[in-house]
Amino acid sequence: MNLGNAFVRTIRHFWPELNDWIGAIPDSRFQPYVVYDKRFLVWWGLALYIFQLGARRQLDFELDCRDSDILANLNRLAKTKQETRPVNKTLHHFLGHTGVNPYASLRRQMVQRLIRSKALDAARLQKCLVVALDATGHLTFAQKHCEHCLVQRHATHTTYMHHVLEAKLLGPANMVLSMATEFIENRDDNDALGATLANETRKQDCELKALSRLMPTLRADFPQLRVCLSGDALYACGRTLQLAQEHDCRFVLVFKEGRMKAVWQEFQTLLNLCPQNRLEHRTADGARQVYRWVLDLTYQDDEGRPWTFNAIICEETIRAGTDDEQTTTFAWITDLHVSKNTVVEVATKGGRHRWHVENQGFNRQKNSGLNLEHAYCTDAEMIKAYYYLMQIAHMILQIFEAGSLLRHLAAECGRTPWQLFGGLANLARRLRESFRYRVLSDDAFDPPPNERIRYSFDSS
Ligand SMILES: [Zn+2]
Repeated sequence: MNLGNAFVRTIRHFWPELNDWIGAIPDSRFQPYVVYDKRFLVWWGLALYIFQLGARRQLDFELDCRDSDILANLNRLAKTKQETRPVNKTLHHFLGHTGVNPYASLRRQMVQRLIRSKALDAARLQKCLVVALDATGHLTFAQKHCEHCLVQRHATHTTYMHHVLEAKLLGPANMVLSMATEFIENRDDNDALGATLANETRKQDCELKALSRLMPTLRADFPQLRVCLSGDALYACGRTLQLAQEHDCRFVLVFKEGRMKAVWQEFQTLLNLCPQNRLEHRTADGARQVYRWVLDLTYQDDEGRPWTFNAIICEETIRAGTDDEQTTTFAWITDLHVSKNTVVEVATKGGRHRWHVENQGFNRQKNSGLNLEHAYCTDAEMIKAYYYLMQIAHMILQIFEAGSLLRHLAAECGRTPWQLFGGLANLARRLRESFRYRVLSDDAFDPPPNERIRYSFDSS
């Protein structure tokens, strides 16, 4: 089995309806000089990120069809019969006609399919899937870019930015899958929502205001899903607790003294009064953890609303040198069940999300060929269509990288995927080469019964 075949098989396994969903994208207004099938164009757009080309114009070079099998392979993938390939401007033109929404819908369908097929269930925490909330810089400009830019004035210059708030589903094998997006940008209607909050005096849009818009979308898109929100100390406030309650979500939020001073002090007092709430744990990589917790802490937010939750503190000691030890303290508030049996799992799956979101999520999207911070175009709305295509492609890549077929393929060579490819950038390059120079086989689309394998995700 070659890499391209393994990739296509993975897609067909997890999203057998994907081409139908793409085919249902409304595009009635799209009439370019040569008519391209929308399925081909959407795959063409996804290829920009799947093959990690880094910039739109690279489509014209890296996926040039002369002396390669690219056109035949993309036709097979999209079930189309294009005789020529589009240029990158065709993609741009097409996205301008479809607008942003179809790609948000496509991502929702893909995440829903993964949830329904129970592919992510190994990551559940007290029956919930953990959804990490985090914002990042998306684009920065030296000049005013559009009406909605966030503005930051420095002594010598001003920067214009677009940020984005993401709800990222934490899957097994450290997967971080984008499931809801709220663009943080200055709009009149955004301000109206934010102005109701006593504690918010800033005129500009911000993470917490964006969260008020994101939560209804998240719930509308995933109405039945048991959700546990996970976020850093910024989110440990009345607004998040209220939103969690309104949208029937559990929560695990980082607890910092500075964010909830009075509650923190009460927490410290109560910890001494319940010495039985203590557990020592040694992690797989040898760190010593001491967990302590308090149940039913009370907190009144700045709008006078009363809240009750549990709080956990974890002191983690690692060996830093031969005689040197380093201790780090972590703490969270949560409404999940906390006891000797559950505290490690709550902290590990619900609380320690940050590393994964930062690395697999934003760092990877910024520092690889996915190129998050590159403006794939200048139009404020179109930028979002590219953003969603990137999130979809990254989801496909993560499912492929963590899935059985890649391990299977590497095992055929007597190696692990890491030994075989050496890194994700190499994997993307090899996948691109496979699509260029190896014709996809029929087996990739319809594997013979004796070759069907059970899919699982690499949790190492
Ligand atoms: Zn702008």
